Order: sequence, then structure tokens, then C-alpha cells
Amino acid sequence: MARYTGPVCKLCRREGVKLYLKGDRCYTEKCSVEKRAYAPGEHGQNKRKKLSEYGLQLREKQKARRIYGVLEKQFVNYFEKADRQKGVTGENLLRLLERRFDNVVYRLGFVCSRAEGRQLVKHDHFTINGHKANIPSMLVDVGDVIQVKEKSMNSSKFKELGEIIANKNVPAWLELDKENLTGTVLSLPNKEQNDVPIDDHLIVELYSR
Ligand code: SF4
Repeated sequence: MARYTGPVCKLCRREGVKLYLKGDRCYTEKCSVEKRAYAPGEHGQNKRKKLSEYGLQLREKQKARRIYGVLEKQFVNYFEKADRQKGVTGENLLRLLERRFDNVVYRLGFVCSRAEGRQLVKHDHFTINGHKANIPSMLVDVGDVIQVKEKSMNSSKFKELGEIIANKNVPAWLELDKENLTGTVLSLPNKEQNDVPIDDHLIVELYSR
């Protein structure tokens, strides 16, 4: 299945919440959810139908997929992996999604959205522990050190990075060295450290049907 390449703001309006897919714009009054708080399409301004239990579970899963930019098949793989791990399946699932390399460069402030993270990871702008790392779905581990490649630092995208991340706060499971533009994974992320608006219970219920 191909990755969605249409207007991403429509996805937020479809879900009725901000999914923060467009970087800086999401924090301004230009955000489409702020301007048009109704679903896209001809009937979008009609009152939203009350969703069935299944509908709620499905929407929650779609929301998670859209936030992390993951395809359906990949998402099922994450769920199956989370289910095989010890602990609470929903929490394991969120942890796996957070550990994706494209998410981590976003969390560190090296890029302004996960989509941009995916693109720049693929274009080989970062290293993990000094080694080539150009697969967005790679999972980081405790102790991993993420860095912008030295030759990429001269590109227009990263030249101003030092100033951009000067006031950046990162989640407690990551450490950001603003001077050396380096991030370190201190621990694996737990649910309390994750601010994504996802109810993991609903996703687990969906796949347990
Ligand atoms: Fe969603 Fe961001 Fe577009 Fe707002 S600006 S609708 S949060 S992608």
C-alpha cells in the first residue's frame, strides 16, 4: 500500500484533533483545525455521527498511524511485536513507535515534523553511534547517540540548527547536547513521557476482536 501523499491537514480535520503533521505551522493560527474545526468534504460541516465502539477503536488506530506516519501492515507488525513483549501491550506499542529513528530526530528538534525526519533520515543526514543510519523505522536503544552528519551541518537545512534548538525541551528519556548537536537515548520511553493524544487501550481492544 502506498504512503499517503495528500494534504495532511485533512487528516487532522478528519480525526477532529491536531496531529501535528506540519511542523511549525501547527503551532500558529494558520492551523486548519483552528480555522475549520469540522471534517473535510461536502458533508464535513454536518454534526459528527456518534461512533460505535468499533468506530472509536478504529479511529484511534488511524490516529496513531497518521501521527507516526506508519502504514497499515507496519502497524500490525508493531502491534504483534508489542503483544509478544513482556508488560502491557498498549504501552509496549507506544514505546516501539516512539523509538523509531524518524520520531527520535523529531523529538530532539533536529527536524520540525516526523515526515521531515523520515525524509532527512532517508537522505542520510544522521548517524547513530557514528555509523550510517538511513532507515526511518530503525529503533533506537538505550545509550545510542544520534548526531547530524558533519557534512550535512553546512547545508541550509542544518546551518541554523543551533539557534533553532536553543530553547528546545526534549522528553526525559532523551538528552540533547545543544552545543554539539547530539542526542543520547537515556532510557526507553514510558507512557507518562509520551504526549501523543492516543488511547492505547482502544487500539488493543481493536486488535483483540
Ligand atoms: Fe494538523 Fe498541523 Fe495542519 Fe494543524 S497545521 S491541521 S495540526 S497538520
